[in-house]
Amino acid sequence: MARPDLHERIQHQRKLRLAQGRIRTRRTVGRRDGVRLEIDGRSLVGFCSNDYLGLSQQFEVVAALQDAASREGAGSTSSHLVCGHHSLHQQLEREMADWLGYPRALLFDSGFMANLAVQQALLSEETDVCVQDRLNHASLLDASRLAGCRLRRYPHLDSEGAMRQLKNTADGAAMLITDGVFSMDGDIAPLRSLALVARMQEALLYVDDAHGVGVVGEHGRGCVAAAGLGVNEVPLQLATLGKALGGHGAVVVGDEALIQHLAETARPYIYTTALPPAQAAASLAAVKLARRDHWRREKLTELIAAFREGARRQGLELMPSETPIQPLLCGDESTVMALSATLEQSGFLVSAIRPPTVPEGKARLRVTLSALHSVEQVKALVDAITRARDVVLYQRSLNTVNA
Ligand SMILES: *Cc1c(COP(=O)(O)O)cnc(C)c1O
Repeated sequence: MARPDLHERIQHQRKLRLAQGRIRTRRTVGRRDGVRLEIDGRSLVGFCSNDYLGLSQQFEVVAALQDAASREGAGSTSSHLVCGHHSLHQQLEREMADWLGYPRALLFDSGFMANLAVQQALLSEETDVCVQDRLNHASLLDASRLAGCRLRRYPHLDSEGAMRQLKNTADGAAMLITDGVFSMDGDIAPLRSLALVARMQEALLYVDDAHGVGVVGEHGRGCVAAAGLGVNEVPLQLATLGKALGGHGAVVVGDEALIQHLAETARPYIYTTALPPAQAAASLAAVKLARRDHWRREKLTELIAAFREGARRQGLELMPSETPIQPLLCGDESTVMALSATLEQSGFLVSAIRPPTVPEGKARLRVTLSALHSVEQVKALVDAITRARDVVLYQRSLNTVNA
């Protein structure tokens, strides 16, 4: 029997993607200035970054990066366990643990790797089970495969569904895992009831709050703290440094024993080069600003209200989100692609999110807001979306008449 040819196989797969209109392309940003992006020589107002607090180009953050880089250089030169663990990493871990109210923190190169690490280090036996919300981030689902445990998913936000899945798998050690803020929907997990389920079923609750930390709750301490929970109910939590904090990397906070275990056994922690110390310095400056600058969150609240009010007035299909992630449902993929292209003509960059990132029939424009946007820009976006919708609907009607 002949072995399948890999080049032939991928060509076939690409043709299928072409036929389904599912080719993904990268946009090259020439320059970025706050929410303005220069793409192909044109200046667009971006509504698609995760720089919610507007810290990535903030003066003190960039100055901390430059200052540390001028002293310590561009890289960390080694993994944490060899000689790459720097006092700036240590300070950032202490600051994150203090902010989120946890005993200890461990720094990772990215959120994706941190998620791989947590499950691999804890769910190593075949009988172990990981119970997850259906809409959890891709890295959490991939992590279960890497760990080799059983993966069971429950309907979005359904804590009774989580309970059933845990009851059905009571023979193995278990983790219950959820996003805090869901990355494509913007809604928040029912953490208090999930914590109850985890306690009743003796499962370890892990919350990935990549989009919540910095944005949600008092002092931006994220969804767990906002739900009145802490290390007792949620022994492990992920915060990323590349979203609201505007930098790069991620931190897992947790109890002493769990963090110790991760640092000693997690392969995505051990076998990779530590984050550049200058990046840690930048994040350290960003965390201090995120804790201090309430105006950034207040501004977001104002922008979210302006967007939702405008969209509601225009009959756009909002989703139940109170966070800076404000998706508008468009249904089919061709509509969302046409809308996004028309918006770009009007000077706005908004990402079109399609299957397989979201379920079939749930394609959407994923609008994200930043404290650097103005209310006027948000209103102009709503107007542009409304006009784009009318243009797309009009073209559709012509096509139907002609057909
Ligand atoms: C972005 C994201 C990650 C990955 O974090 P990176 O630092 O970008 O690798 C993990 N989980 C969720 C929910 C995310 O949105």
